[in-house]
Amino acid sequence: LPPPLYIITPTYRRAEQLAELTRLGYTLKHVVNLLWLVIEDANQTSPLVIHTLNRIGVPYEYFLAPMPDEYKNTKKAKPRGVSNRNRGLDYIRANATSGVFYFADDDNTYDISIFEQMRYTQKVSMWPVGLVTKFGVSTPIIRNGKITGFYDGWIGGRKFPVDMAGFAVSVKFLHERPNAKMPFKAGYEEDGFLKSLAPLNLTDIELLASNCTEILTWHTQTKKNANASPLNLTLHGDTNLV
Ligand code: UDP
Ligand code: MN
Repeated sequence: LPPPLYIITPTYRRAEQLAELTRLGYTLKHVVNLLWLVIEDANQTSPLVIHTLNRIGVPYEYFLAPMPDEYKNTKKAKPRGVSNRNRGLDYIRANATSGVFYFADDDNTYDISIFEQMRYTQKVSMWPVGLVTKFGVSTPIIRNGKITGFYDGWIGGRKFPVDMAGFAVSVKFLHERPNAKMPFKAGYEEDGFLKSLAPLNLTDIELLASNCTEILTWHTQTKKNANASPLNLTLHGDTNLV
């Protein structure tokens, strides 16, 4: 078997949730030796999510990791998916010994070839992500095979101005950094997490997607369906009160 892949997917309850998980799940079904860590921002498990995960048939673990109230109740930008991803890191620290992990949001689009490429990451690997900001792409800039900077519509003073879908990390590399975690800081989640992996130099980063010339992941965003309510979702014909 090739090295294991741990896919950390934050999710939360809304009308589009099961559609997102279904699309992502059937993508992941094409990938061998993969464990899908589905982590919901909620206080109670969802029978609908469990039913959907069982139906898809990808090996998974399902956990809850609610966003702390201080962030949930703020009027400012929320750190979406951060408690979920940190819960995924806890799982990996406790259960994984080798392989690679990747933060795969439930609404993005992934070409399965990126999973086969990221599997062999020794430290941290990176590649371009399409449909990020008005620039249309977020990517490391490569000159003569080396990273010389980053192209992103919002640099924001970040050392690593990359999208969540644009990097993967080796499990062993994480184990050597017991304090690494994602900060509850909207806009700085990726940068804060990658900085917490110090020491990490630009020369350590492995470049995938043909030296960052191909787009194999997209930061797609699903249009919110204002009319559908999670209350309308049914499981085996019974109205499920969420
Ligand atoms: N998410 C979450 N709780 C929330 C909002 C989002 O767990 O309150 C998850 C969501 O399912 C996704 C990730 O966090 O996997 C990023 O959220 P979103 O896609 O809304 O962010 P954006 O694409 O707009 O940056
Ligand atoms: Mn998204």
